Amino acid sequence: MKGEAFQHALKIEHDVCIGCSRCIRVCPTEALRVRQGKAQLYPDWCIDCGECYRACPTRAIVVESDDFNKIFSYKHRVLLIPCLFTGQFPQTISEDDIYHALYQIGFTQIVEVETSVDFLAESIDQYIENNPKPTISSFCPAIVRLIQVNYPSLIDNLMHLKAPVDITAEYCKKQLLQKGVDENDIGIFYITPCAAKIAAVRAPVGEYGTVITSVLNMDDLYNKTYHQIKQNKASDIQCKHTSELSDKSIRWTLTNGEAGNIKGRCLAIDGMDNVIEFLDKLEDEDTCNFDFLEIRACDESCPGGILALGNRFLAVEHMKHMAEKAPAVSQLPSEFSFTYDMIKAGNIEERSMVKYDKDIGKAIEKMERAKKLRRQLPNIDCGACGAPSCEALSDDVVRGESKISYCIFIQKQQEQSGDLSNEQSFEIMEEIWGKHKFRRK
Ligand code: SF4
Ligand code: SF4
Repeated sequence: MKGEAFQHALKIEHDVCIGCSRCIRVCPTEALRVRQGKAQLYPDWCIDCGECYRACPTRAIVVESDDFNKIFSYKHRVLLIPCLFTGQFPQTISEDDIYHALYQIGFTQIVEVETSVDFLAESIDQYIENNPKPTISSFCPAIVRLIQVNYPSLIDNLMHLKAPVDITAEYCKKQLLQKGVDENDIGIFYITPCAAKIAAVRAPVGEYGTVITSVLNMDDLYNKTYHQIKQNKASDIQCKHTSELSDKSIRWTLTNGEAGNIKGRCLAIDGMDNVIEFLDKLEDEDTCNFDFLEIRACDESCPGGILALGNRFLAVEHMKHMAEKAPAVSQLPSEFSFTYDMIKAGNIEERSMVKYDKDIGKAIEKMERAKKLRRQLPNIDCGACGAPSCEALSDDVVRGESKISYCIFIQKQQEQSGDLSNEQSFEIMEEIWGKHKFRRK
């Protein structure tokens, strides 16, 4: 077990956190606790799904973004734009307006992320034929990490192929290098609607490097672009953008965008609750005879990403409208020369045991101890201990990050037997929920 640390895009602003515990209740991997009245993240099993970001009432959870001005450190500033970015704008704003504004704010080349999708779709058909069924799409990085952390028995089903954004980024870089551009002058920037994709670019799962220089948050770039469009007059627009993308490519990030275009028996599932319900079933019952599963963490897939500003239903409708006008097959640039072997990704490691220990022997021993501890706990998942469940508290105790007396039921038993004084019990609650919560008038 390697268990290298995950990279993250989400951060908790402790000054803003009020310790309400809403985030710990929605986290699918139990990666959050309340300590000293503030949310605390356990980075080893956070999957950057953004569920906590959505639940936080005070916006204490933020997505860290790279500085936009970083683009000006490069002479060739390539922007990888997903169709979803265009789909965020009102339909009264044309693609020409959007592209023109993006060139004005500093990019020298704009390439659609989905340029590589038709090629990838064919490669997926080839992949499915030669690998365990069902193949689970690796397009959504939050799902890849969820499987690494919570469903290790499904790791072998994850598709080991690179994501469209990485293939397109490699294509852009190759093109510029072939034209004789100095590698140090090339900056490749990607607009993303989701924190998991930022984290995946910083540390790609599947052990391959990325040529993307930096990731730009979709909401920030939308505001910048929209502001620029509003300043432009219709007569200023000289940019004529003609998309060469196919209907399939435009729909790829929507729910059923992959599953609807892969051969065989396929199923699409979106939204974290639906995903967990389905993966629990898939792990427990060997009854699934599907060829391919498209599984996405966000409701309505990428249009539901936490950095997508527009209403997700309107964005889906806008993209479907764009797709209806597109050709059946993308006009791939003649220089696009990838082969199946060139887009293979490497191993994806399981991480379910990392929470106990990075040493597998110690991890197994701690897991057994945690199981025994669980029998002493009431198993009502009340959350008074600052952990989301009794199971999470027992895991914390064996990892030395909590005490069994954090459980309010155990505290009462210890008080009754004289092992804990009232004062000690009070101090424990202050350790969890912070002194200020007990000193209100
Ligand atoms: S991003 Fe997802 S996995 Fe990470 S702490 Fe928030 S809810 Fe949990
Ligand atoms: S949801 Fe979590 S991060 Fe937000 S205020 Fe409550 S405890 Fe703090």
